[in-house]
Amino acid sequence: MEQKNVFAGNPLIPGKRSKIDSGALEFLLLKDEAVRAKGGARVLPVFDGRPLVVSSRSPQGVVVWSLCWQSLDRFGSKFHSSLSLGSLSEEAVTVAEEELVKKKYDKLVYLGEKDDVPFFAIDFSGVSTADSGRDARAVTQKLAQDIASVFTPANASEKCAFIDLRTLMVAADVGSKPAKEEVAIAGHARALLEWHKQAQFCSRCGTKACPLEAGQRRECSNPVCKNKSYPRIDSVVIMLVIDKERDRVILGRQSRFVPRMWSCLAGFIEPGESLEEAVRRETREEVGIDVGQVIYHSSQPWPVGPSSMSCQLMVGFFAYATSFDIKVDGEELQDAQWFTRDSVRKALTYTDYKRAEEAASLKIYNICSREKAASDAYAEQSSPMYVPGPYAIAHSLIAAWANAAPDSLLSKV
Ligand SMILES: [Zn+2]
Repeated sequence: MEQKNVFAGNPLIPGKRSKIDSGALEFLLLKDEAVRAKGGARVLPVFDGRPLVVSSRSPQGVVVWSLCWQSLDRFGSKFHSSLSLGSLSEEAVTVAEEELVKKKYDKLVYLGEKDDVPFFAIDFSGVSTADSGRDARAVTQKLAQDIASVFTPANASEKCAFIDLRTLMVAADVGSKPAKEEVAIAGHARALLEWHKQAQFCSRCGTKACPLEAGQRRECSNPVCKNKSYPRIDSVVIMLVIDKERDRVILGRQSRFVPRMWSCLAGFIEPGESLEEAVRRETREEVGIDVGQVIYHSSQPWPVGPSSMSCQLMVGFFAYATSFDIKVDGEELQDAQWFTRDSVRKALTYTDYKRAEEAASLKIYNICSREKAASDAYAEQSSPMYVPGPYAIAHSLIAAWANAAPDSLLSKV
């Protein structure tokens, strides 16, 4: 059974080269005639972890959006002349110049290849706002808008802006392979670029660490140390705890959740612990329940957590309870309860996830066209409870159990 959670299924990674030195990078960027014949390498501008997105709206009001890929020709001297018309974006010129004209490649990361065309992401958010006065946030936002406006497509109906990855995640039609692929690529780009921001200095000796292999790793510049570091992945177990006898599951509420939202239990894996052990320990810690059999369901890259964790890996399980009295710890979890299959099915149908997706798409269009967003996000008002949307592995676990025959989960693995 295919399990393609959102952020998985990135089409560029299967074609990714395992090693890429500076010579290979130059070749990919500039010299490969076959690549140039296909329009050259594609580059995705990113600002503060937000990819550049192009959006348009049909006369019927349907919003269409996609990642706003650029050809290399948009950078270099052409980029310089278009930006120099603006007022605030001198530093953005510097980013593009250093990366692609002076061949510094500090903020350029290689994402992979598809149909022999290489794809990269470039980070514009290293621009300093230290001397910009008190309102650094407003200055940064203006800078992001200025840079985005440089990339505005020639077609007047299309607008572009840097869009938060969580908004893209909610806006993605999970039934659409192309939409999911776009979000997976954007997630990979954000994860890599945010990791580079976190890993600028050697964790062993504190000397500056330099990116190598087109951003696939970093190495300490101290010749005595040369400590290597690789993109960070933080592993999390997420589990649906099942009472097989009574045909019910545990859902919990964290205090940071929006009202009425319930989800699976989850927790970080300790060093030296197996996945199954982490599932059992976290379940015992959070709700005081003992777990016997643990069955793997699927996993999900999660590049939308805190920026200090550039990419979490959510590993999803069904966990069969052997004790049944819930004792909530009150710290990590605010509440946890057993829910019957009927109540979980109702929660899944109460919420109009399609409307949430359309509201997020409209938000993207409004940001791209500099219109004031009508509302931040769609919120279901009428349901007594709901579970996370189809973009989350929690939803996949809950829906798989709710829609499966009671005994069928065991036989699928
Ligand atoms: Zn070092």
